[in-house]
Amino acid sequence: MDWRDRGLCLREDPDLFFPVGSADSGLSAVQTDEAKAVCRQCPVAERCLAWAVEAGPVEGIWGGTTEGERRALRRRTALGPARTMTAA
Ligand code: SF4
Repeated sequence: MDWRDRGLCLREDPDLFFPVGSADSGLSAVQTDEAKAVCRQCPVAERCLAWAVEAGPVEGIWGGTTEGERRALRRRTALGPARTMTAA
């Protein structure tokens, strides 16, 4: 069985996971929060998030994150562990 077959979003309206408009605007923000609440209860959230981060830019809420949040995760992963700046 594929991890996608166990996602709680299969029981929800798919539109909930694809909010229209920016994440911080009215209805879109409400939809984003509701979708994230479903993801928080999902047994495959970790696998889902890993897939979405590896897949590159994908629309919608996956693994409890927006594309903007995943972009930030990718950036942090690409940078590796925090580096300390040294004086020249
Ligand atoms: S984490 Fe969210 S988007 Fe991913 S399978 Fe679960 S409910 Fe669906």
